[in-house]
Amino acid sequence: MFYNLSLKRTFIVLSSLFISIILCIPGRANSDVKVQNIKHFSSQDYTRVVIELSGQVEFNKCKISNPERIFFDLKNSYITKEIKTVLPVGDGILKSVRASQYNSETVRVVLDIEEISDWNYFIIENPARLIIDLKGKNKKSNSSVFLAKRRIVIDPGHGGHDPGAVGPKKLYEKNVVLDIALKLRKILQKNPMNEVFLTRESDIYLPLEERTAIANKKNADLFISIHANASPNREARGVETYLLNWTDDEEAMKVAARENKISLRKMRAMKKQFDILETIKTDLMRENKRDESVKLANYIQRSIISGVNEKYKNIIDHGVKQAMFYVLLGANMPSILAEVSFISNPQEENLLSNETYREEIAKALAEGIDTYFKSSPAIQKVAELTFHGLQ
Ligand SMILES: [Zn+2]
Repeated sequence: MFYNLSLKRTFIVLSSLFISIILCIPGRANSDVKVQNIKHFSSQDYTRVVIELSGQVEFNKCKISNPERIFFDLKNSYITKEIKTVLPVGDGILKSVRASQYNSETVRVVLDIEEISDWNYFIIENPARLIIDLKGKNKKSNSSVFLAKRRIVIDPGHGGHDPGAVGPKKLYEKNVVLDIALKLRKILQKNPMNEVFLTRESDIYLPLEERTAIANKKNADLFISIHANASPNREARGVETYLLNWTDDEEAMKVAARENKISLRKMRAMKKQFDILETIKTDLMRENKRDESVKLANYIQRSIISGVNEKYKNIIDHGVKQAMFYVLLGANMPSILAEVSFISNPQEENLLSNETYREEIAKALAEGIDTYFKSSPAIQKVAELTFHGLQ
């Protein structure tokens, strides 16, 4: 009898251990990693926490209650005193983020929760960082219906020490796309319905995850990342528009690897990366985001091709494609990445260095955005309400 009872107890302990192992899904592999910095980006209903690491890390994560918190145990990791180990957040979503040396091999990062409705996490590389996205409760659903303005976040790729692709005549992608973005903002701002933000307005460096965080913080209706394409094949030219998803297309993977600043080998290996896989899956299912991104990408692509082909014949239409771009990962709104021409192609580099061509591209992007908004019934309704309200 006594023996049975202790056996039963052992079983309960073992099974609860098993359950906690299932709930605390382990992450991925590697060795001695330094926790270098912890940052957060907050708005009323969104928080992104970024844990900067010296390399790829294996981790366990778990959400527990009383009090509600999420913790990540980073294996073979260490944290030094120069890092702020308690980060007060207090934004209604998180109270704070704490990090400590849990034992000789493990750093524990704890997110103290105030109130969340949803959360997600993933690791991106070069530099390695663990990113945790958290959503607040029921604040966003109302805002989009009553929001009279169309809030657009434009992201000119690269900047600062990252020139992006460089053309044969040394034209820098970072300068071209910034100029197009500034022109695009100017055009969009002519319509008082549009509220436009740029992730960068000058030649500064901005990590990819901060660009997405800006769009999420602004509660944007659209997120558009502007880039110029490049290929070792100097003949390659044309326009293509991307949305976030998995792909087996080698060419699309090459483009994403270059924009993510990782190797093609790492890009291929990412398909086995559990956290990114899950993030994309939940991300695309959310609020018809995928359908809306497809729609937006199609309008933009068509608009560029028809817009520039009037003046500049023979612009090749590569259509809408999909790939795993870090900059689109975790964006809460319809989001696309436009490769507006090939800077590596001598003819298209000439075009991209031409003021008029950049203006045409900006105009075409603005038209694509406008067509998208006009096709969106919810936003259309708000526009009508606002119009009648003004009469
Ligand atoms: Zn780029």
